[in-house]
Amino acid sequence: MRAAADADFDVLVIGEINPDVVVSDPDPLPVFGEVERIVRAVQLTVGSSSAIFACGAARLELRVAFCGVVGDDPFGRYMLDAMAGRGIDVSACTVDPDRPTGATVILSSGSDRAMLTATGTIGALDVDAVPESLVGRARHLHTGAFFLQVASRDRLPAFFAAARARGLTTSFDTNWDPSGRWDGVAEMLGASDLFFPNAEEARRIVGTDDVEAATRQLVATGSAERTGGGPIVAVKLGAEGALACGPDGRLVRAEAVAARPVDTTGAGDSFDAGFLRAWLDGADLRECLDYGVACGALSTRAIGGVDGQPTLAEARAAVASRVGR
Ligand code: ADP
Repeated sequence: MRAAADADFDVLVIGEINPDVVVSDPDPLPVFGEVERIVRAVQLTVGSSSAIFACGAARLELRVAFCGVVGDDPFGRYMLDAMAGRGIDVSACTVDPDRPTGATVILSSGSDRAMLTATGTIGALDVDAVPESLVGRARHLHTGAFFLQVASRDRLPAFFAAARARGLTTSFDTNWDPSGRWDGVAEMLGASDLFFPNAEEARRIVGTDDVEAATRQLVATGSAERTGGGPIVAVKLGAEGALACGPDGRLVRAEAVAARPVDTTGAGDSFDAGFLRAWLDGADLRECLDYGVACGALSTRAIGGVDGQPTLAEARAAVASRVGR
């Protein structure tokens, strides 16, 4: 492991906590005009990039603490129970009596999905309310859904930089920007060791169609924001696997692990958890990518973001079978 051996938590995750209601069917499109269609399944499951990432990391035997906000309602209680049940320390999470827990309805065909989100508490995290003592007990800091952190987004780069100054390593995932502005990422790159966009997010942030150029540009942007070399940028390419670039500018690619996806919700967050697990273990970029694509692919074998996430043994076996090919 990279940082202080006496930390209580391998990863502190700060971010949004909301459930997903997953509607799965080969053809999940609703028909208006009061038409009732029968679909294969409707399920309540752990949602939100930050929470799915945290569950994936915990499943990979990382010790995870979470700081976020839920409403005082069944969705909020469901989420905190589900996360605690997966071994995540949620004692720093708070309940906002004035706002409902955010929620997402996902229409999933297996290979693609559409999402409808009511934000509720999703953007409510106040980064100044994250206990300093908790930061001091962790080796690594992560946040997902950067663009949805409306209350704290402007302060997140400084919070990340302060954590790095204390010796933590840091990572983030932006996910989609519903505002379409895609701004504020440069400052985060300057305060992060790892960045995990998917291909379309990388292209939009940089403003180019060329994903390799976008990846290199994101590293260069992070480099320009600080001294001591830029971040590693690992870009998720769906069924085509992933590519990554570190401060040396060299691109490394990993093919996807073969999968017949039942539901790709949370594949990106599960990738992030796998990549981070290997990176914290000191693995090289190629092996980090192997863990990322293995965890991403395995996560697609069940409906929702967390039920298919692999154990460490499953992830290791998937990586070993690729190496042996
Ligand atoms: P996001 O969920 O952020 O959009 P992706 O869809 O690219 O991210 O998925 C993340 C990772 O999960 C990919 O890099 C890949 O390794 C794995 N993955 C996703 N879809 C598939 C698939 N159809 N087959 C195999 N692996 C997949």
